[in-house]
Amino acid sequence: MMKIKLERTLANCPTHLRCTICSRPFEVGKIRKLLCDSNGLIQGDLCSTCSKLSSKHLKQKLQTNEEIIQPKFYQWWFKRLTILSEATQEIEQARLGSSRCHCQNSRGLKILFQRDDDS
Ligand SMILES: [Zn+2]
Repeated sequence: MMKIKLERTLANCPTHLRCTICSRPFEVGKIRKLLCDSNGLIQGDLCSTCSKLSSKHLKQKLQTNEEIIQPKFYQWWFKRLTILSEATQEIEQARLGSSRCHCQNSRGLKILFQRDDDS
């Protein structure tokens, strides 16, 4: 069983990577799509085209009979939300500098998560 994991792209990540499925170079977005094996070890990155393929197609391309588990829609949504809230915190911290107050920041976060619960 293989799994595609979503990870926030870190600042030290190269801007271009090679897709582990189609072996084409691609530009990395805010979220990395990582193919992991059954032990959770990372096999490589997926480009945006390959990450949209069905698991049947991916199995054909990888020439494997292993089941490939793709991220659920809510996982994408949650990852985007996490990145958004992290970015907001970073901007807020940069803006407030050393004399920062977290009260306004945490209220903003609460609203975001309540919206997620409603959907
Ligand atoms: Zn690809």
